[in-house]
Amino acid sequence: MNREQNILRDSHGRDHAYLRISLTERCNLRCTYCMPADGVQLSPKSHLMTYEEIYDIAKIFVNHGVTKIRLTGGEPLVRKDIPVILEKLSSLPVELSITSNAVIIDRFIGVLKANGVNKLNISLDSLDESKFKHITRRHEFKKVYDNIYLLIKEGFKVKVNAVLIKGFNDNEIIDFINFTKDLPVSVRFIEFMPFDGNKWDMSKMVSYVEVMEYVNQAFVKNDIIRLEDAPNDTSKNYKIKDYAGSFAIISSVTNPFCDSCNRLRLTANGHLKNCLFSSSESDLLTLLRTGKPIEPIIQKAVQAKFKVRGGMDTLEKLQKPDLHSQNRSMITIGG
Ligand code: SAM
Ligand code: SF4
Repeated sequence: MNREQNILRDSHGRDHAYLRISLTERCNLRCTYCMPADGVQLSPKSHLMTYEEIYDIAKIFVNHGVTKIRLTGGEPLVRKDIPVILEKLSSLPVELSITSNAVIIDRFIGVLKANGVNKLNISLDSLDESKFKHITRRHEFKKVYDNIYLLIKEGFKVKVNAVLIKGFNDNEIIDFINFTKDLPVSVRFIEFMPFDGNKWDMSKMVSYVEVMEYVNQAFVKNDIIRLEDAPNDTSKNYKIKDYAGSFAIISSVTNPFCDSCNRLRLTANGHLKNCLFSSSESDLLTLLRTGKPIEPIIQKAVQAKFKVRGGMDTLEKLQKPDLHSQNRSMITIGG
């Protein structure tokens, strides 16, 4: 099959070559911005994709031009069959990567290396142990912190994701940037986004502009270097002169990168979401289990993709709770 000819192009001319697969709705942390305090209703195990189904669906996407697959969740590493999932997916011609909270990643160094995974996105929202406990509702700071150092020592390319929340960790922006002084990591500040049950409101969000105000106050102009962003990059990248690492801002709220969006998302129960913010889903797994072809509904879902943020194309719409509360919690989408 010619992958180029089958490319998943939407009605706005965007080609979709990047698939994020959520492996589980479970997690060993309980981040307040990601899941509601009383948890989420978990899908019964029989409704989740098996590793064979993950592979079969992924293969179809690869035949339609997907060249990058990122595994996410929930926490992808809590899934028992993660080694076999990695082994199966690494046989496909894709760049395979993972987003993890890193709590138990030290147990998987060998498996990750054996399957060619060398780029990792690790979530860490605070460099302060007690704040970490507050935001994640768990006491795992030391493990995550030590594991970031371990991953770098083991030669992985690490990006650290920090969701910024006003009055909580915005006073750590410069500490995070100083964290990149000797460590070759990219710290990415993520604007807090609205999902079901996360009590989002615009006033809690720290914007791209506000991050840069902190940066401009802390460093002299000539030392702040704007880096070139990769194609389809969701982040605006910078570094401080002579620092080993870099930093970036992911401004999905104030400055969405929808024009160059090339992403599709598959939830752990096998539903395709054409946009992180979209409340509509296409159930690929049920169809796959009946033995019918899933390509037509993949194409239809891609065609139906809105131009901007699942149809919430203005900040006014984004602030309407009835619009974003129809969407899932982030933990069951897969970030
Ligand atoms: N458990 C893994 C982790 O935390 O890296 C993977 C799943 S998590 C849902 C993926 C990413 O989504 C994380 O970097 C997390 O910070 C981000 N995320 C979750 N909820 C968010 C929100 N409301 N706004 C912005 N980013 C969010
Ligand atoms: Fe778990 Fe990641 Fe969500 Fe935190 S952000 S609760 S680590 S899935």
